[in-house]
Amino acid sequence: MVKNGRVLFILAIGLTGLFLAAMGAYKQGSVGGYFEKIKENPSLMQSFLRAFPKGADLHNHLAGAVYAESFIGWAASDNLCVDVKNNALKNLNPGISCSDSGWQDAKSFVNNSDAVDALVDNISMRAFVPTSGWNGHNQFFSTFGNTVRTTQRLGDMLAETQARAGVQNISYLELMTSLDLGGVYAVAFGTAWQDAWDNDIAAGYAALMAGAYGEKFEELIDAQTQVLDNMEARRDEVLACNTDTPDHACEVEVRYLYQVIRVGPSSGTFAGFIMGFEMAKRDPRVVGINLVAPEDHPQALADYDLHMNMIDLLWHEKGEIDISLHAGELALGLVMPKHMRSHIRDAIDVGHAKRIGHGMDIAYEDRPMDLLTQMRDQDVMVEINLTSNDVILGVKGDEHPILLYQLAGVPLALSTDDEGVSRIDLTHEFERAVYTYDLSYGDIKQLARNSVKYGFTSDGDKALLVEELEAKFIAFEQMVASWPTP
Ligand SMILES: [Zn+2]
Repeated sequence: MVKNGRVLFILAIGLTGLFLAAMGAYKQGSVGGYFEKIKENPSLMQSFLRAFPKGADLHNHLAGAVYAESFIGWAASDNLCVDVKNNALKNLNPGISCSDSGWQDAKSFVNNSDAVDALVDNISMRAFVPTSGWNGHNQFFSTFGNTVRTTQRLGDMLAETQARAGVQNISYLELMTSLDLGGVYAVAFGTAWQDAWDNDIAAGYAALMAGAYGEKFEELIDAQTQVLDNMEARRDEVLACNTDTPDHACEVEVRYLYQVIRVGPSSGTFAGFIMGFEMAKRDPRVVGINLVAPEDHPQALADYDLHMNMIDLLWHEKGEIDISLHAGELALGLVMPKHMRSHIRDAIDVGHAKRIGHGMDIAYEDRPMDLLTQMRDQDVMVEINLTSNDVILGVKGDEHPILLYQLAGVPLALSTDDEGVSRIDLTHEFERAVYTYDLSYGDIKQLARNSVKYGFTSDGDKALLVEELEAKFIAFEQMVASWPTP
């Protein structure tokens, strides 16, 4: 699966590195000293971190990775509409023009730069200022409903995300995406099975597979695979991956986590989990599953234990897969304290999560020190999303549990969550971590190493990515040796 060019790169850089190391021209310790010096020069630090080999971004939602301007541009090209009054993109109502729906066609809308500016602000966190009754959490999640993400643009979304990774020296992306989850729900919903669903998971599973869902199961899997094939084909086209002059970003390895939605009817979430397990078993590009949407949503809170039990049932029914779960993306004040006592522990013990997304409320879990020890001993990695935690939960600086995880020896990696909505990139998250927590060069190398180590790709591919990262460190350290010193 890993490209031939990657193997050649590792060999070439590895040999050069060995030579330089032998000549005494390469001294890692000096890079650590240089790193401390350039903290006084943030622009130089930005350049350093942009070129720094960051390994992987393991917590990145494809739907949130794309910048607002791209969605607006595609809406104009695809003859979609803009609800100018509410600053939202809209799909064309079947058989009705934009104007007859009370909207404007996106093609003419984009000529009004002030209006475009206001739309960009409303479908992202740009220029956001909290007001009474409308906080960062409201704004963040509202952007998804105010943007149109069409299936035919998934490949363009992937190309944009991959291109951004390429210029930041990221080797591997593990993107969360729902593929044709709408098709899965369409078959599961509105049936006698759904009417009879009473949260008895085992009985519900048997009944679901015996009914229309089971009958159409192979068809549904084919639809997921088709979406993935089309998405990658379009990505290859945009980045010219199959030509003599491919974009550098074509070298970035991409895998997917099938994302299941935790809000809405629990029967639908269950149908999504079944498909996620099946895709992870069958398609090597889908390396695991995740559970998304606001964890503090009343439905998500009410069904949390049920969702964990669903995963556990399928784990025993269908066999083990790799699982990362958003857990503990909560803060005091956002929800009642009782909801902060067990989500992370249950995600690991019942939901079989090998990685935890966010883990913000760890200190509010029952027996937090025991849980931290368990996470360290079980090698459960925490995906840290600093900007996302700030804009959604209002938690930042010393209040962030990153320091507690670090102290307890729990492995960590930095990730972006929704870089398009937050208008950031992974370089920004490294910069933020370095300045907020005074990280050393050794610290950021460890974060990059962890991001590759805890990825869910195959052992063979991972071994190559690990080797490549080490080779990239050597090449990078050799390069910055010639950079100006403040
Ligand atoms: Zn997330």
